[in-house]
Amino acid sequence: MATAPLSFDIEPAAPCIHCGICLESCPTYVLTRLETESPRGRIHLMQEIATGRIELTSSARLHLDRCLACRACEAVCPSGVGYGELIENARASFEEHGVVRRSGPMRWVRRALLSLVADPARLEGVAGLMALYERTGLRRFVRASGLRAALPRRLRRLEGLYPPLTRPRYRRAPVPTVTRARVALLLGCVMRVAYGDVHTAAARVLSRLGVEVVEVPAQTCCGALHAHAGERPDAKALARRNIAAFEAAGVDAIVVDAAGCGAHMKGYGHLLADEPEWAARAEAFAAKVRDVTEYVASLGGGTLGRLPMRVTYQSPCHLGHAQRITEQPRALLRRVEGLELIEMAEPEMCCGSAGSYNIQQPELADALLARKIAAIEATGAEAVVSANPGCMLQVQSGLAERGRDLPVLHVVEILDRAMR
Ligand code: SF4
Ligand code: SF4
Repeated sequence: MATAPLSFDIEPAAPCIHCGICLESCPTYVLTRLETESPRGRIHLMQEIATGRIELTSSARLHLDRCLACRACEAVCPSGVGYGELIENARASFEEHGVVRRSGPMRWVRRALLSLVADPARLEGVAGLMALYERTGLRRFVRASGLRAALPRRLRRLEGLYPPLTRPRYRRAPVPTVTRARVALLLGCVMRVAYGDVHTAAARVLSRLGVEVVEVPAQTCCGALHAHAGERPDAKALARRNIAAFEAAGVDAIVVDAAGCGAHMKGYGHLLADEPEWAARAEAFAAKVRDVTEYVASLGGGTLGRLPMRVTYQSPCHLGHAQRITEQPRALLRRVEGLELIEMAEPEMCCGSAGSYNIQQPELADALLARKIAAIEATGAEAVVSANPGCMLQVQSGLAERGRDLPVLHVVEILDRAMR
């Protein structure tokens, strides 16, 4: 029965010729072998929903909800289908039309979390309180006493993904004696409170290579979490704040060490394309965004220090698929003397993190994580290297679940240690 269409932009799907080349790269299709869980099936479904030929039933929603938005399909598509943009349009439309039913408390928690990450000062305060769970030894007790194993599955998962809030906060690096470029570093939201020392490592590496890292105190969360959750007005507001903040810094590049944030910020031009006052500024901003591995690799040069270690590299979806940066992180690791890079099987396959996917779709997320951990273990590596906080948390929790204490490090942490 024809219904009022949800009217979202399906133009990014237009080039699809239904060839199916994308199927084998799709994690949910690989696991289920169902057309409805494939990119081709979802594209067809979204086209039918947007044109009102079918209703958004709960089973149709489920097929779309199960999409990780990993964009592996987009990276292999020969026709140039903009899958990432398409699924984001669909999710934003579902939110705008109020078709996503949530209980009162769930709505409140979701809103509270999204507004918390958008406010760096408040996030710092809350993170300080939450860190007590670790600082008081409660987390160690929960794990050692077996209490964690007795928790319901969803709570156990949340506990495992609890970010490390006691790691050192970001510290500025010295200004190089001879400066070849000036850049700004995105501090973000979760990265700011959970992986501040990764920012410090990035800044130190840049400084040693003659790049000055300029402080931009007015910057805020990039808005990727809001955009992926379908909260487009919030995502736009955060983008506008960041554009104004970074413009004032007048830097050569905006360097990002969280792949998900970088992928989203490279899309600011598209996000604000319908706002005349911001469109050109957003394009100019996006043109300056560089993943830290992309930026450091572009500086050229030879050896990047020495660190005897056997590592394997987990390619984040938002770096490999969304930004098509697969070679630069590996090339940087190969420039470290003594470091052995062992490729795992399916390095570009999603680990199941994908924002809150591991909470919303636990079965599929678990299956993907188990596949990833098996691939890591088969390499015999001493450490896992990645370039996105979500992947790092997910892999770390998967290893811990199996009693493995393999370190999970960011590429810049490896470079920082090697160059010391
Ligand atoms: S999205 Fe691309 S690869 Fe997949 S079926 Fe369509 S044209 Fe083929
Ligand atoms: S974004 Fe990822 S999970 Fe979604 S259809 Fe494409 S490959 Fe599959």
